[in-house]
Amino acid sequence: MDIKLNPIFRETYTLRDAGVKEKGYYITDACAGCGACAAICPQRCIEEGAPYRIHRNHCLRCGNCYENCPAHAIERK
Ligand code: SF4
Ligand code: SF4
Repeated sequence: MDIKLNPIFRETYTLRDAGVKEKGYYITDACAGCGACAAICPQRCIEEGAPYRIHRNHCLRCGNCYENCPAHAIERK
C-alpha cells in the first residue's frame, strides 16, 4: 500500500508460484442500492450500480461499509 497517494492504492504481488488469494470486502447481490456505503467510505472507492461495487485497489479495509450496510450485503473475505 502506498500511503503517499490519496486515495491510497493497493497492489497485490505474487511470489513465484505461491498464488494470490485476494482479500477484502465484496458487495453481493443483496445490495439494496441505498448508497449508505458510498456515503461513508473514507476512500470514496465505492461505485454506484446494481449492486454497488468496491474498487479494492483503493480500499483501506476499514470496515465502515461492512458495519453500516442496512441490507448486510457486504462480505469480508
Ligand atoms: S450500504 Fe449496502 S445496500 Fe446500501 S448501497 Fe451499500 S452495499 Fe448496497
Ligand atoms: S472497507 Fe472502508 S475503504 Fe474499503 S470500501 Fe469499505 S468503507 Fe471504503
